Amino acid sequence: MDKANLQRYKRLLLEKRRELSPVRGLVPAAGGWEGDLIDQANADVEAELQIRIQETDTQLLEAIEEALARVEDGTYGICANCNRLIPRARLEAVPWTRLCRGCMEAQDS
Ligand SMILES: [Zn+2]
Repeated sequence: MDKANLQRYKRLLLEKRRELSPVRGLVPAAGGWEGDLIDQANADVEAELQIRIQETDTQLLEAIEEALARVEDGTYGICANCNRLIPRARLEAVPWTRLCRGCMEAQDS
């Protein structure tokens, strides 16, 4: 991949990383002794949801960090599984991907 493109993807990754961090507000304490049972249940669901969002963000951040490391060591844009170039359209859509579509689908199934 040529340098100009590499820099562009690096910028995309850095922007996305900035978007994700710092991690959104703290997880609200689930429940408490006040309020009725419905409020209690809602608070629990809310806290659960927050935790899930943060887990997803953390995974995404890790993927972005890895992609940035690959930009540095010159392996960015190469499928980690089959060593073929990842198509540009895929990198545009998911700049932090480490697999080409074929390998990703094989992994999912
Ligand atoms: Zn592949």
